[in-house]
Amino acid sequence: MKCKEPSQKNQKSTGVAQAVPSTEQLTQPNRDRSAWLKGPAFPCEMIPQNVARPWRLVLLGAPGVGKGTQAQLLTQQLGACHLSTGDIFRTAKSLGESERSPAMSAAMDYMRRGDLVPDATVLQVLRERVNCLRCRGGFLLDGFPRTVAQAEALQAALQEQNVALDAVLDFELPIDEVVARLSGRRTCEACKAVYHVTGLPPKKQGVCDQCGGSLVQREDDRPESVRVRMEVYEKSTAPLTDFYRRLGVLVPIRAQSTPEATLALTMGALRSRG
Ligand code: AMP
Repeated sequence: MKCKEPSQKNQKSTGVAQAVPSTEQLTQPNRDRSAWLKGPAFPCEMIPQNVARPWRLVLLGAPGVGKGTQAQLLTQQLGACHLSTGDIFRTAKSLGESERSPAMSAAMDYMRRGDLVPDATVLQVLRERVNCLRCRGGFLLDGFPRTVAQAEALQAALQEQNVALDAVLDFELPIDEVVARLSGRRTCEACKAVYHVTGLPPKKQGVCDQCGGSLVQREDDRPESVRVRMEVYEKSTAPLTDFYRRLGVLVPIRAQSTPEATLALTMGALRSRG
């Protein structure tokens, strides 16, 4: 099912040359992503328009490297939708048992342990949402693909939709800093805005600045899950960089500084790719 036409809500024209936003803008609410989060039976009420160029990007990097934050910033800069597979599974978690497919319930167990959800389930989820790949605003895929098999399936799906990846942004950060970032991360239960207890605290402790929702630590950000996720990342996801390097679309980005500085590096890299 297609996304509905946009409502009256204002959507800015976007382009690579826009100014880098301030830190406050990090917590602006995401655009409507119903079709992605809940599946094709829930079309988006609001889809991007006046997007000068639809960027189709994959964001790579270990958990905690700041992909989610960069995705929020890039959404504002480029007008592209933030498509996170982790958000799909977390949304499914908040549904009632009867509203979830058995495959989704099984996926919850993997996620709770910090393991990867099996490719077959993830690819089924992608197939249901394949229309999002040709959204006129473009997309920022975050958390997918995570294995070479998923990357190959994505290439096939993109070809079917007659679109291609513009770049694969690989955010790089030393492991000690990854652990520090993850343990302090807090996410809004309602709108999914991301904060950090020291790096990006909310105005009121435990409360989302944007929607007043509760800020929680994700189950998979607990130390025992983080350890598993890092091992899983090294084993399964690192080979993706080789895959995309061979395709000529890999763009390494140093993510050691502030979100704004990382965004500036990213925008510079995109600008040079035209
Ligand atoms: P994330 O928010 O991307 O860190 O994802 C949270 C969790 O969702 C992961 O630890 C996995 O259990 C699951 N997950 C999300 N995306 C994928 C994927 N592409 N392949 C397998 N599992 C995934």
